[in-house]
Amino acid sequence: MAATVIDGKAFAAKVRGQVAEHVDRLKSGHGITPGLAVVLVGSDPASEVYVRSKGKMTVEVGMKSFEHKLSADTSEKDLLDLIDKLNNDPEVHGILVQLPLPDHLDEDLVINSITPAKDVDGFHISNVGLLSTGQKSMVPCTPLGCLMMLRDHHGSISGMDAVVIGRANIVGKPMAQLLLRDSATVTIAHSRTKDLPEVVRRADIVVAAVGRPEMVVGDWIKPGATVIDVGINRIERDGKTKLVGDADYESCAKVAGAITPVPGGVGPMTIACLLANTLTACCRANGLDEPEGLTA
Ligand code: NAP
Repeated sequence: MAATVIDGKAFAAKVRGQVAEHVDRLKSGHGITPGLAVVLVGSDPASEVYVRSKGKMTVEVGMKSFEHKLSADTSEKDLLDLIDKLNNDPEVHGILVQLPLPDHLDEDLVINSITPAKDVDGFHISNVGLLSTGQKSMVPCTPLGCLMMLRDHHGSISGMDAVVIGRANIVGKPMAQLLLRDSATVTIAHSRTKDLPEVVRRADIVVAAVGRPEMVVGDWIKPGATVIDVGINRIERDGKTKLVGDADYESCAKVAGAITPVPGGVGPMTIACLLANTLTACCRANGLDEPEGLTA
């Protein structure tokens, strides 16, 4: 039986709609407009596209968008001064520094200079610590989007076997923490994992965040399992550039119970969750109840 396709594009539109409704209420009821500041250093083409679409969607949900484009040779001091300014700006509730940064800038130092309450990417060490100790935090957008789709599809994931492939800080590790928080039994696999296919075959939920085109194939998937494909890989096929995930969609969809496509799966959820995080940060900053269902 063919797998159910988890439509991340439609889900993300729903989340953005919910965010927009809350923003309306904040404006009319409290005179508050959530604001998101995005900082881009340099002119990496992919980063420019991301920043542009983040800005566009921020405005579409009724928030204020502040874009700061700095030249590639910006000094660390100038970048830290800008972050300090944004940390102290009451109109800014969320700050995102687009990664990767040019080599001369210390990524950890920069991220950890953002006030944790405004760290809508959830990468600040305080937020990482809060998440792993089960306390209220800002949750990284991509894993939050994956969790929302899993909760929506399964209701509860309590007791399910989950395998996360990838242990990087942006997706793999926080994903594992979120699955654990929802009481799944979690295995984190990585490049040194022995017999990865056999490990994946045990899983009711497979989250692939590897960065290797179509690595996970149908033969690895337990019949009926849910496959969440985080990968975004550009490949050349039949003379054309194509976007594919870390899972081989065709073979996995034949065995899985549900699967996210690439594109149109996890990707759109990431920006929707960034907006949700900005709204959450704004509510917290103003001592207001945070919207339900839009954070972990
Ligand atoms: P990353 O920092 O390069 O980490 C990749 C992880 O995969 C590492 O933990 C690595 O293990 C593991 N790995 C590499 N080769 C492996 C193998 N053969 N078997 C098992 N594990 C292996 O990548 P990332 O930033 O987490 O991103 C992963 C993918 O997600 C990329 O395609 C990226 O474009 C995509 N992504 C998508 C979104 C979105 O919005 N949809 C957001 C972020 C990232 P080691 O630690 O042992 O090296």
